[in-house]
Amino acid sequence: MQTKLIATIGPRSRDRAVIEKLVAVGVTIFRLNFSHAGPGDFADVIQSVREIEQQTGTILTLMGDLSGPKIRIGEVAGAPLSVATGQLVRLGPARAKGAFGDALYLPLELAEILEQLKPGAPVILSDGIPVFRVRKRLDTEAGPVFELETQNSGLVSSNKGISFPGLAIDLPALTAKDRSDVAAALDVGIDALALSFVQKSQDVVDLKKEMEHHGRQVPVIVKIERMNAIDHFQEIVAEADVIMVARGDLGLECSLPALPVIQKRIIDMCAEHQKPVVVATQMLLSMVHNPLPTRAEVADVANAIMDGADAVMLSEETAVGEYPVEAAGMLAQVAEHTERFMAEKMGGPRRPRGKEQVGKHLAYSACLVADHAGSRALACHTVSGHTAATLSACRPARTVYALSPHLEALRYANFLWGVKPVHVDDRIADHLDRVEHFISTSGAFVPGESIVITSGQPTPGQRHNDTNQIKIYYKGNT
Ligand code: PGA
Ligand code: MN
Repeated sequence: MQTKLIATIGPRSRDRAVIEKLVAVGVTIFRLNFSHAGPGDFADVIQSVREIEQQTGTILTLMGDLSGPKIRIGEVAGAPLSVATGQLVRLGPARAKGAFGDALYLPLELAEILEQLKPGAPVILSDGIPVFRVRKRLDTEAGPVFELETQNSGLVSSNKGISFPGLAIDLPALTAKDRSDVAAALDVGIDALALSFVQKSQDVVDLKKEMEHHGRQVPVIVKIERMNAIDHFQEIVAEADVIMVARGDLGLECSLPALPVIQKRIIDMCAEHQKPVVVATQMLLSMVHNPLPTRAEVADVANAIMDGADAVMLSEETAVGEYPVEAAGMLAQVAEHTERFMAEKMGGPRRPRGKEQVGKHLAYSACLVADHAGSRALACHTVSGHTAATLSACRPARTVYALSPHLEALRYANFLWGVKPVHVDDRIADHLDRVEHFISTSGAFVPGESIVITSGQPTPGQRHNDTNQIKIYYKGNT
């Protein structure tokens, strides 16, 4: 399987036995969601993942997901309460609550963000239902209070997420809670951090600075879940290590029918920038309660992979669902069918766009050579993961073995389509020799097979040692 699988850990998947089964069906990245628990609450999960990694020899990645400035309403008196179409409710600062008698009131802690909210604007509660429209603004001593008209009936519960599609909200992605989670996550050995509700590149820079301050840098997965982020995509993608199409919150901000096209555009832009991209949320949602997904869900997974996603992610399906292992197994099966079809359809590696950065073209050439030589695999040595990313971006038909003595690079390489990270020691000084030694001693390859290796072999005095060599290595009978 070339597509990477991410599973969110929760009550239904935190036991070691379940994690082992998830790894057995192909999950290599585990998401620890800090919206519901802090990094310190995952000590047992982290220990299990590290032990399974040791036992199986499969590199596994722990991705912490920072909550970010998700806007929620507070306690609603008498909730859960149904609201009917046409019903008027009020939204405003928690302190102004008493001023409106018994009418349904949605209290908001950060009411300042509503300054720009105008009559006519939509307001959406708890993942899409119900939807309201602002009727008028009332200025009170405690701040603005908005009268909302219910557009479609639904249930109002306390502490639910609320969104204001299209409203530019002046909140940095890294909150005070996130800063303390970053420190704790780096301490407990998290390998990557996802940043929620990013709006501009400064948000990513803020997280990097925070990590620098703690003396450890891990890759940043930028969650695209604000329309604002799409407007600033070019600057954001330059700072990101991985992009995530976070369809849950993004689907509240954009018009839902536009979401599939937005997903495709984001994936396309990632292909252009050679950045790995994850498609997330509601991929197999019905499997929370059912052992089989719907036809539409399997088609959605297949289409995300055909669009060019490097990885697909499960959220509730593995965190709280009744069939966590079956859901991950279903992703794997869809991925395998889809990949065979893609290889057939593509008929060759994906050509890099743009003439600059010759390394991209060298990687592309390596993929062509591997095709024409009928090679078993591609292999490279990678210090940062960059060389592996460049090969992966060409979507080669064969596995890319990415070798490194650096576990951080390998755990990042887990996000890359078609890349199998392999841990090697550094006793052999030369990188090319290291790769050849691995091939000659690994049981994964049989004598007579060829493997295409890319490597950086600088000539004496050369200033940078980017990848500059392609070699067809034939395994001998040693
Ligand atoms: P969440 O992010 O699950 O943390 O909300 C993913 C999404 O919004 O799709
Ligand atoms: Mn989200």
